[in-house]
Amino acid sequence: MSSFVDSVLSVVCARNPAEPEFIQAVREVVESLEPVVQKRPEIARLKIVERIVEPERQIMFRVPWIDDKGQVQINRGFRVQFNSAIGPYKGGLRLHPSVNLGIIKFLGFEQIFKNALTTTPIGGGKGGSDFDPKGKSDMEVMRFCQAFMSELFRHIGPDTDVPAGDIGVGGREIGYMYGQYKKLTNTFAGVLTGKGLTYGGSLARTEATGYGLVYFTTRMLADRGTDWNGKRVVISGSGNVAIYATEKVQSLGGKVVALSDSNGYIVDEEGIDLALVKRIKEVERGRIKDYLGKRPKASYTEGCGGIWTVPCDVALPSATQNELDGKSAAVLVKNRVIAVAEGANMPSTPEAVACFQSSGVSFGPAKAANAGGVATSALEMSQNSMRLSWTFEEVDVKLHGIMDSIYTQCKNACETYGKPGNLVAGANIAGFIKVADSMIAHGVV
Ligand code: NDP
Repeated sequence: MSSFVDSVLSVVCARNPAEPEFIQAVREVVESLEPVVQKRPEIARLKIVERIVEPERQIMFRVPWIDDKGQVQINRGFRVQFNSAIGPYKGGLRLHPSVNLGIIKFLGFEQIFKNALTTTPIGGGKGGSDFDPKGKSDMEVMRFCQAFMSELFRHIGPDTDVPAGDIGVGGREIGYMYGQYKKLTNTFAGVLTGKGLTYGGSLARTEATGYGLVYFTTRMLADRGTDWNGKRVVISGSGNVAIYATEKVQSLGGKVVALSDSNGYIVDEEGIDLALVKRIKEVERGRIKDYLGKRPKASYTEGCGGIWTVPCDVALPSATQNELDGKSAAVLVKNRVIAVAEGANMPSTPEAVACFQSSGVSFGPAKAANAGGVATSALEMSQNSMRLSWTFEEVDVKLHGIMDSIYTQCKNACETYGKPGNLVAGANIAGFIKVADSMIAHGVV
């Protein structure tokens, strides 16, 4: 390890000892910045990397609410405002029992570079709570969201910080949070994205992360001289990202044969019946296992990690961080996977990434491949500011153009800095340079 990487990481490890996911995300970025730091000495002189790994602000707060039995419940809320060099903080809110400060920091850190790659003017942030929406009634979810926003509202604003959805936060939760923000501030402002279409949401935002992932992967396949036609595809998760990635793959001629949730995975050799999955997940809020009720020829296996043993040409991990480890990557390679692109944030462990890269598998990192969601959130902000609504097709065309541009930026950056074909390095370098140049322009602040 070089002295630059070593010195940055030793401070990050010492300052954030209980945050393994954050350290993992920082390590991956800092290691790929080595050639940039060598080429541009002002970056070291002005301590840009040392500054970028430290959040501008992190907020932790109590979220007390009352459940259906009249009992008081207490959760912990977070908002990490990581970097505002190129625009207001932007990034989703995650509701999941595993949420802690380190998870939110890793997500917020990744978001800085992802948002820069979208070419839209948004900084990086992330938030959430250890609240578990599973098994909660609609009224409990509403009371929690109102309590959460009762503190968050004082830290956000359409020109300050604009949160969106993430795991456990979809249209319903954004609606409840928006209602509370509007009541507390007496303003109708574009302060959240992923809103409903009747109150300022953008068409195609729901589909954007999954569609964008597939647009990005299309470019990866094209560079190998192929396309989706007839490809077997495995996608983990069955939430927002997985569902709309499946929809786009199917429309382009690919065959999605497996999906999962945190309990297990289904395999349907005839191709996933997406209308059925949407009904189970979006309407009934059920489990992926329920799929067998209507498709008896499909199979279900308990435990989500086994999904990577299903042979496929393309794998799109779209559930959660570190869900695909080195062993699973080796099985995918043995089964002749040709491309892996990350729908979730940091779903592949460092060992898995190394395995794909050393085996000639095309690998699309999350901060590039799943940037379509936040890019479309930025388009929602533009529409809110203009008091206009674009059609689905208009937004989709812009999304497609942004994903193409992200791919081109990553490819050019890794070639320019001597790492051709390494899209991980390309994404980190291209995203970093834009933020670094803005930080340099702003002086030491
Ligand atoms: P959803 O809540 O809609 O779906 C999450 C899916 O992943 C569910 O199927 C869930 O299963 C599964 N999952 C969650 N946690 C785990 C776990 N610990 N182990 C195994 N499976 C798990 O979330 P999204 O689809 O929105 O998000 C998925 C990923 O994509 C996340 O990493 C998110 O950060 C990332 N992402 C999302 C964007 C968006 O626009 N929504 C944008 C960019 C990235 P279960 O129901 O059993 O919990």
